[in-house]
Amino acid sequence: MKKGYFGQWGGAFIPEVLYATFAQLNTEYEKARADAAFWQEYVELMGNYSCRPTPLTYAENLSNHFGGARIYIKREDLNHTGAHKANNVMGQGLLVKRMGKKRVIAETGAGQHGVATATMAARFGFDCTVYMGEEDVARQRPNVFWMEKLGATVVPVTSGSRTLKDAMNEAFRDWVSSMDDTHYVIGTVCGPHPFPEMVAWFQSIIGIEAHKQILQQFGRLPSRVYACVGGGSNAMGIFQGFLDTPEVELVGVEAGGEGIDTDRHASRMTGDRASAGVAQGYKTMFLQNPEGQMLDTHSIAAGLDYVGVSPILADLGEQGRVRFEAATDKEVVDALALSMRKEGLIPALESSHGFVQAFKEAPTMAGDEAIIINMSGRGDKDIFTVAHAFDDPSWKKFIVDRGNEYSK
Ligand SMILES: *Cc1c(COP(=O)(O)O)cnc(C)c1O
Repeated sequence: MKKGYFGQWGGAFIPEVLYATFAQLNTEYEKARADAAFWQEYVELMGNYSCRPTPLTYAENLSNHFGGARIYIKREDLNHTGAHKANNVMGQGLLVKRMGKKRVIAETGAGQHGVATATMAARFGFDCTVYMGEEDVARQRPNVFWMEKLGATVVPVTSGSRTLKDAMNEAFRDWVSSMDDTHYVIGTVCGPHPFPEMVAWFQSIIGIEAHKQILQQFGRLPSRVYACVGGGSNAMGIFQGFLDTPEVELVGVEAGGEGIDTDRHASRMTGDRASAGVAQGYKTMFLQNPEGQMLDTHSIAAGLDYVGVSPILADLGEQGRVRFEAATDKEVVDALALSMRKEGLIPALESSHGFVQAFKEAPTMAGDEAIIINMSGRGDKDIFTVAHAFDDPSWKKFIVDRGNEYSK
């Protein structure tokens, strides 16, 4: 198969001025990948700076509640900065150090990847610039605040729809003129080769651990593994631990928004609004109109609100190795409420998509079967959205009072 392709998906559709940069990145990545000491350094860094290995938690109360399969939860929420994104950015940070570069750039929509990248840059002593649509800067003030305090420069992008894809264009524009000393930290298993393969490699640490842990705790492999799918990095992370064992079914859950039969969702592999296309440097299933214009997407979970999907997952979906489902905003809030009440766990709204599908299927399975849900992140960041969804009156009063205090 052609390098950087997964079936018909992937590739590297990049402007000629970036060829040399990508060549250098490919070389360094291949070298690191062939070097066991690099992986060892990465594992040690994640053990000392983040919380690896993250636990695999047996959710006894939820298992009893549904009365079917035993439910295990992989706790990526316990990573530093609260999600699996730390795995990717710290891995790329080590690679940047190897390349001798001094500056990193990133684009971010909801701001989570921006915060993770700013954290990594502070830890490694890199300069950091984060591009963010002006619209998103206004909507995601808490994340912008943290990025700036961590030392990053946040650049509001005013072109186009002033959201994620415009920020991405701006980041590429920066890279064209700064590539000698700058690395572009892509946040998920998307974009031009080698990013999908490289980010999947860093995230594979999730699946390697989960495979070992389920054998230790349950004695056998799980029947199914569930993960939410935005760009696809947490899903690819855990799936890689079970890809070679076909008896383990892999289930990716996309953002069903207000329903996949409406135009308010972000489901690429489910529903009928996505088609094959080339954009943002790679080929995948994009939510686009017949003219190739990207469609507006919606999800209650900002991290799943993306027009494309990993080329690796597009291929695994086409092969039938990964089954795709979608969860609606409403189902997500219900699953989150149940997880809090039954287990004291607060999954991120993104992660809760995986919980929805697992909760639908667990009761239909036998008591001697196990399933794993990848809890990609913690939900603290979602307090504004969740409190609004629960229509909590005391929270509303708190926000209004705080506002009044400041406007005095
Ligand atoms: C960013 C994010 C996601 C979506 O990204 P993937 O690349 O699909 O994993 C999912 N969960 C959490 C908690 C996130 O922060």
